[in-house]
Amino acid sequence: MSNLLKAKPIIDAKLPKLLDKSRSLAQRGLKPKLCVILVGDNPASMLYINNKRKKCEQIEAGFELIQLAESVNDKDFLETVKRVNNDPEVTGCFVQLPVPKHLQHIDITQLINPKKDVDGFHLNTINQLYLNDLTGLVPCTPRGIVTLLAENKITIQGKHVVIIGRSLIVGKPLSLILNGLNATVTLCHSHTEHLESHTKRADIIVCAIGIPEFLKEEHISPEGKQIIIDVGINKKDNKTVGDADFEHIKDKVAAITPVPGGVGPMTVFSLMENLLKTTETILKDKTDEQSDSAI
Ligand code: NDP
Repeated sequence: MSNLLKAKPIIDAKLPKLLDKSRSLAQRGLKPKLCVILVGDNPASMLYINNKRKKCEQIEAGFELIQLAESVNDKDFLETVKRVNNDPEVTGCFVQLPVPKHLQHIDITQLINPKKDVDGFHLNTINQLYLNDLTGLVPCTPRGIVTLLAENKITIQGKHVVIIGRSLIVGKPLSLILNGLNATVTLCHSHTEHLESHTKRADIIVCAIGIPEFLKEEHISPEGKQIIIDVGINKKDNKTVGDADFEHIKDKVAAITPVPGGVGPMTVFSLMENLLKTTETILKDKTDEQSDSAI
């Protein structure tokens, strides 16, 4: 059996530091608070939101869920986002995706106040990645993957990483980040020809496509040295499975993330890291404003 890259030991080790930071921010005058806007009551979304609520509780951050009716109109939806953007008690927020079809014409990720952009999807945030600046907010799933690799002492610099999937929330930002960390990145997608010719040459394969058990033995190198990062969360026969065919490749690679228990929890953990970053920035702005007005 290869090395299982589990999230839990990493999160257990790092959570106390986040709790300390959260308490220190509250003592300095701004308690971190996450607000989630949900339209409708999609059960998968509710599950994701509850995981985020639990993590907020663990770091003593505030949490608010604003649930709007599935039929909410554009005006009421936009007003809610605006209210949350301007609420001085909310230090991080996002709209849980997907939203119902009638709202999908709105570019929701750009509506969020960039200072509260804990998901890391706003163009201001992405622009920082484009400029190789990883000190600010970073989209949660890519941030979680980089932490997972670092904590397992897996070298990124100089390695060939093949990412399958180029979505705006996973594959594309991850390719920018890994490039900034000096990996050689190949970004594959549904039009990539001879996918296996790329994946077989990779040191690290990241699979983020949303097709259950897509990555098979035929895609991997026979040498058994590859690292597989499985981002997929899919339902198959009432079970949660990833984008990699775990059972058939787990003994043929050096290390692999489990699903569940790998990238998913790292993503939620990264959201908490981003929440503390947004809170810190908002608090600093507030303190700077106060000292400016005192001059
Ligand atoms: P999207 O549906 O937005 O994107 C899928 C990507 O996969 C696209 O770039 C698409 O290519 C590519 N693709 C589809 N079919 C193939 C194929 N046969 N060969 C190669 N590439 C292909 O997916 P997301 O990035 O939003 O999500 C991917 C998976 O990750 C899902 O299972 C999702 O649930 C999961 N996920 C998990 C998270 C976590 O925290 N663990 C967070 C976010 C997502 P093209 O661009 O050409 O269409």
